[in-house]
Amino acid sequence: MNRKRFVDSYLKKVFRVIKNYRLVEKKDKIFVAVSGGKDSTAALFSLKKFIEETTIDCELKVFHINFDLPVWKDVEKVIKKQAELAKVETVVIHLKDFGISLEEIAKKVRRPICSCCGVIKRYLMNKIPREMGATKIATGHNMDDFIVFFFKNLLSQKFEWIAKFKPLLPSTHPKMLCKIRPLFEVSRDENEKFCKILKIPFVREDVCPYSYIKYGLDKNREKWYQTIDGIEKWNRNFKISMIRAIEKMSNYFRQPPEEIKTCLKCGEPSSQEVCGFCKILMESKEKI
Ligand code: AMP
Ligand code: ZN
Repeated sequence: MNRKRFVDSYLKKVFRVIKNYRLVEKKDKIFVAVSGGKDSTAALFSLKKFIEETTIDCELKVFHINFDLPVWKDVEKVIKKQAELAKVETVVIHLKDFGISLEEIAKKVRRPICSCCGVIKRYLMNKIPREMGATKIATGHNMDDFIVFFFKNLLSQKFEWIAKFKPLLPSTHPKMLCKIRPLFEVSRDENEKFCKILKIPFVREDVCPYSYIKYGLDKNREKWYQTIDGIEKWNRNFKISMIRAIEKMSNYFRQPPEEIKTCLKCGEPSSQEVCGFCKILMESKEKI
């Protein structure tokens, strides 16, 4: 497929999801959570193209969390370049401004650093954009991510998580933003190809020194991706049929059963009395 045809067909797939699930609506103020990697970069540029082509009255912003590790200076540069190319305003927050140091957390908190990082990211990705008037937060989760999560949750019988495998997750708490996943029907390889053809700079996924692979939290994740890519090779429509089946199936499950509470310490949505973010902050400040 030539380059132009690839980009047209890629955008057709992304736009179809945006339209079918009403991911972008009039007067929306969408913050795109950008890590600098190929997926969230592709999400930013395809949302931007959708807004330009449809001329819908919607505001887009780039939102990035800087982890204040040495390598992040370069990541931030790439993100600023992307935002400049997309002509979108950038909001960058630094973990140190919230009194958080990943190094302290790695030393003191009694759980894997990648899982702490996930809690921190999800918390700030909801709180900061919401406080700045966002109506939705967009992420770069792609079709391969959801297919792999699906198999893993199925095998561990965490059926209720399947309820979340949708292009749009509505808010379930007054302080919880609606989440959108415009790349629900495109793969990670397609996202990379899209960025490369359009010559958009992006960062490698494993820049973080605490990355999953090194710390073995999810060593087999890559094997899972290779397995579904392998099936796709002899069954051309495997991934798209699978993701559509997963989306339909998600309607048969209820979201995780815990009622969404309000954290006693910070007032943010939480599944427990005190949210994961506040717990990590407390643990990382405890004296050893
Ligand atoms: P991950 O949890 O690393 O798989 O990332 C999931 C999604 O979270 C990505 O597709 C991005 O949209 C978003 N994201 C990851 N890291 C950051 C970051 N440092 N700042 C803002 N958004 C991020
Ligand atoms: Zn809290």
